[in-house]
Amino acid sequence: MTLSAIELKRQFPILHQQVNGHPLVYLDSAATSQKPLAVLEKLERYYKEYNSNVHRGVHTLGTRATDAYEGARERLARFINAKEPAEIVFTRGTTTAINMVAWSYARTVCGEGDEIVLTPMEHHANLIPWQQAAKATGATLKYIPLREDGSIDLAEAEKVITQRTKIVALSYLSNVLGIVNPVKEIIAIAHRNGAKALIDGAQSTPHMKVDMLDLDCDFYTLSGHKMCGPTGIGALYGKRELLERMEPVEFGGEMIDHVDLYEATWKEIPWKFEAGTPIIAGAVGLSAAIDFLNEVGLDDIEKHDKMLAAYAYDRLSGMEGVTIYGPKEGRSSLVTFNLDDVHPHDVATVLDAEGVAVRAGHHCCQPLMRWLKVTATARASFYLYNTEEDIDRLVASLQRAKEYFSHAIG
Ligand code: PMP
Repeated sequence: MTLSAIELKRQFPILHQQVNGHPLVYLDSAATSQKPLAVLEKLERYYKEYNSNVHRGVHTLGTRATDAYEGARERLARFINAKEPAEIVFTRGTTTAINMVAWSYARTVCGEGDEIVLTPMEHHANLIPWQQAAKATGATLKYIPLREDGSIDLAEAEKVITQRTKIVALSYLSNVLGIVNPVKEIIAIAHRNGAKALIDGAQSTPHMKVDMLDLDCDFYTLSGHKMCGPTGIGALYGKRELLERMEPVEFGGEMIDHVDLYEATWKEIPWKFEAGTPIIAGAVGLSAAIDFLNEVGLDDIEKHDKMLAAYAYDRLSGMEGVTIYGPKEGRSSLVTFNLDDVHPHDVATVLDAEGVAVRAGHHCCQPLMRWLKVTATARASFYLYNTEEDIDRLVASLQRAKEYFSHAIG
């Protein structure tokens, strides 16, 4: 094992409980990760010791809260290797961040005859905002076709991304197929055609080192709750010149410079995008999560999560009647599957009765489900606190589910 998941697991109090009479095996971290003591304690300290509004008061608690909030921005900028903290806008998560770009940036650059390029594997969060932007601007949506195993063919990307493309948006790590997409190459293709690239980093940021300067993406989005942080906090990274060009999408207190009865001007980036009281506790918690992930080490987390995905792939592909979606190679952190003739909701219910928590449904990827010719799947997703034994429990429970359903179906 690359890191001591057993030791790390001790730091996650929620994982030490019985569910339906069995020790919990949590295999749903792609939906949301669990939170270590370091994050929980930091949140408690924030509320007990220095809860206060930011950027306003001159009193001591206000200054401490402002330092913690802006300190979180600096930490996140370093964590993803952005050029400067001003390029980090705190948002509610990936969904809000993508909506901001689709609403504000897309409307300034797209018109009739322009194209927005996506892939069929995108989460609804990286699909519907672009549908809406296309409707509002007259731009057309285009899709890079996938290979049979669900991976992206760069030769196809070269054909679909053209001089008409204004924006290319795709996920770094697919929440269904588990594959790490060749985003660096696609960003380069976008740039060669004069387009900008947005990377949906909701799944990649928790599981691997991400580097804005190296990727050279124009926008990047992430969700704190998937990377050991609290819910309700995430971020939009954007290159300075693009964020400066964008209009705010929300207006009100905190984001203004000067206000008259009929006109107002905005603060500098990033604050012009953060109207109202910001997500202070969320940022403080995210900052603690980043410290935690740095301490464990992103390289070790990446190796561990890839190892678990490979182990799960091997164990599940050895079971008769199990179909796995997505390629074997280049996979990280999750396995999506179905059991022949059994609805994945039933599979998840039977697993839950043995304390094994997996997700079932369309995973907010309905077009991808249609592409896979299924209505839904089950998904087991892993993180730094999971072990091979957790996957053995999944396989054993799945085996019993199979036997149960084969009797039930007769
Ligand atoms: N994109 C991907 C690939 C995701 O997996 C998710 C979360 N399931 C999202 C976007 C949306 O993230 P959030 O709900 O945190 O905004």
